[in-house]
Amino acid sequence: MQTPTNSIVDSATDSSADSANQASDSPYSEKYDVIVNGAGMVGATLGCLLAQQGKKVAVVEAYLPSAFSADDASELRVSAISRASQRAFTAIGSWEKMQAMRVSPYESMHVWDSTGDGEIHFDAAELGEPNLGYIVENKVVQLALLDVMRESDNITLITPSSLTAFEVSDDSVLVEVENESGKVTLSADLLVGADGANSKVRNLAGISLKRNDYAQKGLVATVKTEHSHQHTAWQRFLPSGPLALLPLSDGSCSIVWTLPADQADYYLAMDEGAFNLAISEAFGHHLGDIEVLSQRAAFPLLGRHAEHYVKPRIALVGDAAHTIHPLAGQGVNLGIKDVVELANVLSNTSRSPGSYSLLRRYERARKGDNLLTQKTMEGFKMLFGHNLPIVKTARNLGLNFINQLAPVKNEIIRKAMGV
Ligand SMILES: Cc1cc2nc3c(=O)[nH]c(=O)nc-3n(C[C@H](O)[C@H](O)[C@H](O)COP(=O)(O)OP(=O)(O)OC[C@H]3O[C@@H](n4cnc5c(N)ncnc54)[C@H](O)[C@@H]3O)c2cc1C
Repeated sequence: MQTPTNSIVDSATDSSADSANQASDSPYSEKYDVIVNGAGMVGATLGCLLAQQGKKVAVVEAYLPSAFSADDASELRVSAISRASQRAFTAIGSWEKMQAMRVSPYESMHVWDSTGDGEIHFDAAELGEPNLGYIVENKVVQLALLDVMRESDNITLITPSSLTAFEVSDDSVLVEVENESGKVTLSADLLVGADGANSKVRNLAGISLKRNDYAQKGLVATVKTEHSHQHTAWQRFLPSGPLALLPLSDGSCSIVWTLPADQADYYLAMDEGAFNLAISEAFGHHLGDIEVLSQRAAFPLLGRHAEHYVKPRIALVGDAAHTIHPLAGQGVNLGIKDVVELANVLSNTSRSPGSYSLLRRYERARKGDNLLTQKTMEGFKMLFGHNLPIVKTARNLGLNFINQLAPVKNEIIRKAMGV
């Protein structure tokens, strides 16, 4: 790979194309400890964690989200943020920035089966907790982390730019980054792919992927319910897939409606009136009539698991390493656990961050948990998708049985909260 002589515009640190194109004072000529490709929720968290340890980090991101305005309606993409993720965000200083924008606590969770009387209810008060977690717009999480990154002297944020190639040698990894002004080559001890489900780093590293196409889509939108959402995360399991209503701070709800792909497309194309009737019916009129307030969008659902998370001088985190079914809202929380573990492995060692044996420790620590969560979600998906009368009866009895067993129930929810 050639080392180009020109630099690129880094709009986060220097918006002047002229100065950025002068190779002599380029911020890219130094060697970084770590280059993180992707400043989504997971990669941006990793950048902040490593910078806190005093490591010199470059974070490359192709697109930046637009600025937050409290007057804007909630974004369509939201995540249920676990207590463990909240703690990681607090430790790096992004949580209070998220709170200053918009977060929505949920105090209970109610799950029930449309085919019977089985239900399970989790309550924060029973655990002695103020809430079970928060619903936060993905953009809010990302903007708060970008803000922390900009405040750090140890992070160079290179955006809008894309990683296009890299080359690993004995003592470094050379990374080619491109934007409309040209290309630049960065050098580091370690390259981390935090670049999402279609990870360029994973593909270029030749790391293969196990895929499971669920043949479903997750339809997302913001809706208004006739009755209060009661700060509760609701999930109704239908034979076609679960419908979740997640409470937002302005009284509306964000929905994730899992449907066979063709049905999702059908509901996307429906006019609003017909959609309102369909979703109210699918939710069993539990909160009265439901009215859609936003555009609707749908995302294909695929389980993916990278065969390896690491290679010499390369590591994958978050969706680049694994994607799971969203029915328990754990995807990004697993990614945050990945980067907390990776940062932990890279701290307090004199060894190069690119050391394969060091990186293997990260892989060993995280792969089992991610795989288990992925398989558990697939198990739930199959269990609730079954129409056999005996399975329906058993799962409804099972839900009610667990609902009566406080210790088991509390253990389940503590695990989901990551505490
Ligand atoms: C319908 C739905 C609902 C969900 N709900 C939840 C939930 O409630 N809770 C939960 O925990 N999870 C949820 N998830 C999962 C969650 O959204 C993902 O796990 C999470 O977004 C992954 O974050 P990430 O940072 O790993 O990847 P991404 O969010 O995909 O970020 C990757 C980043 O890398 C950048 N990038 C990509 N390629 C390049 C390149 N070549 N160069 C530079 N930059 C690049 C992208 O621009 C992007 O910013 C849900 C998923 C779906 C589909």
